[in-house]
Amino acid sequence: MSQNRDHERSPFEKLKHHYEETDLECHECGYDDTEGEWQTQTTGDTVEYRHVCPSCGAIQRRTLSVGEE
Ligand SMILES: [Zn+2]
Repeated sequence: MSQNRDHERSPFEKLKHHYEETDLECHECGYDDTEGEWQTQTTGDTVEYRHVCPSCGAIQRRTLSVGEE
């Protein structure tokens, strides 16, 4: 029994990870917040991601619907 079964990750985690890797650059001032992270908030059927730029304070938001592919 040496089958390495991948633990199934939630879509939220995957997306959060994706955002953390790809999009922490501020759209306002161009600051690349390499050490920052998206904050997630789940409300009902949606997940909201927020990132506040430490340089200019601009807030970037992403909203995802859960349950839709
Ligand atoms: Zn900024």
